[in-house]
Amino acid sequence: MTYSDYRKVFKQLKSKPAKMQKYIRHNAPKPRKFGRATKKCRRCGRPRAVIGSYGLNLCRQCFREIAKDIGFKKYS
Ligand SMILES: [Zn+2]
Repeated sequence: MTYSDYRKVFKQLKSKPAKMQKYIRHNAPKPRKFGRATKKCRRCGRPRAVIGSYGLNLCRQCFREIAKDIGFKKYS
């Protein structure tokens, strides 16, 4: 099971509505107002290591790839 989206299993459970309800009740992520689980990279959707400074909302990997294009300069 991927942690990126719990709804990916819905495709399999479509023919089993009772199991689907059970799955939703027990496996749906808790709605959060703050914390790590609320942020996602806007480029690739990665939930971890998201940079929010300057309104970037990019993960560190995406930032590394596109930093030069968006005007960041490496000094060291
Ligand atoms: Zn990313």
